Amino acid sequence: MSAPAIHGSDDRADFDEAWFAARAQPGVQRLRAYDPGHDLVALRRRFGESQLVELGSNENPYGPSPAARQAIVEQLHAIHRYPDPLGGDLKRALAAKHGVLTSQILLGNGSHELLMLLGQVFAGPGDEVVFSRYGFAVFALSTQAAGATARVVEALPREHLLMPLGHDLEAIASSITAQTRLVYLANPNNPTGTWFGREAFAAFMARVPREVIVVMDEAYAEMADADSDAATALPWLASHPNLVLTRTFSKAYGLAGLRVGYLIGAPGLVAVMERLRESFNVNGPALAACEAALGDDEHQQWACAQNAGQRAALSAALASRGLKVYPSQTNFVLAEFGPRTAQIETALVSRGVVLRPMAGYGLADCLRITVGTDDENRRLLAAIDAVLE
Ligand SMILES: *Cc1c(COP(=O)(O)O)cnc(C)c1O
Repeated sequence: MSAPAIHGSDDRADFDEAWFAARAQPGVQRLRAYDPGHDLVALRRRFGESQLVELGSNENPYGPSPAARQAIVEQLHAIHRYPDPLGGDLKRALAAKHGVLTSQILLGNGSHELLMLLGQVFAGPGDEVVFSRYGFAVFALSTQAAGATARVVEALPREHLLMPLGHDLEAIASSITAQTRLVYLANPNNPTGTWFGREAFAAFMARVPREVIVVMDEAYAEMADADSDAATALPWLASHPNLVLTRTFSKAYGLAGLRVGYLIGAPGLVAVMERLRESFNVNGPALAACEAALGDDEHQQWACAQNAGQRAALSAALASRGLKVYPSQTNFVLAEFGPRTAQIETALVSRGVVLRPMAGYGLADCLRITVGTDDENRRLLAAIDAVLE
């Protein structure tokens, strides 16, 4: 039985996606929607939530601080009110944490929204945006949506001894032209897990003209080991007004479902971006939960320490099975599964183990594996053993 046609939308095949795409603005015409991976709702229904091993989206398996959950409950009485459009309390907490001004902070509905907004505000047709191959997928999306031209810089080769597939900062700096408006970096990067250090970043910033805005996506900054030397843009902000960084509550803080990210940059840059920000883009319970989460550093640090331990154990376990595992300072690892990667991935899904296929990134022989809890990682390894046999 077919559903009734809704005002002709079903029976007019000529008004299809291609017809509307032809009417979209040029950047959107060639755009492909962000690929969020498998349909997890359908898989949860099929396997049951407790049976499914969800390691495809780099979520934090330990969840948020209990104080964050409590703050959400306490916000429910005010759910008929609009949230604070300024996000003032959360901004003050973030400013205190990072030693910056509240006027340097912009809140987003996830840092994804802020990365898109940066493209919209600072790039357009005829402009160039520079980022690394295997850089976070949203960089390309943002560039295309703005109608700008992407200059994709080759990553360090797979054979590189220290940082295979990592950002080649020297090549990125060399790719900047008079048309360049934006450079997107991710440190550490998703999906490679790679990172660069302070010295390399300082040398890079010294080569970037002040007219070019450098965006440092630091979604995994809290997860990098203290001795990893992974650079954060924070110490450079004061001397480089063309530098901005983005962070998120989705990863280390375990609040992916609430959708909150933030940007730190020069007050002037934040003020210009405010012009395009949707006024109530972060909801009330989310604002309250993030503020509470910031007040519980201990929980966040505990979760990150758990992750670091599990990441080392999982990397070693995968390597002992003959798989090449790339270095990572995040809560996931990239691993090579060879020419049969697609079949292996399908077989893992049929056993209720969800990883992230990498063909869309041009890494078809790799899978990205979120580091889970000890129990999840055991179930993952058992499934891999069964499938590889
Ligand atoms: C997960 C992730 C983000 C952010 O996500 P939001 O949930 O939108 O805050 C940003 N950048 C990278 C590199 C990520 O992996």
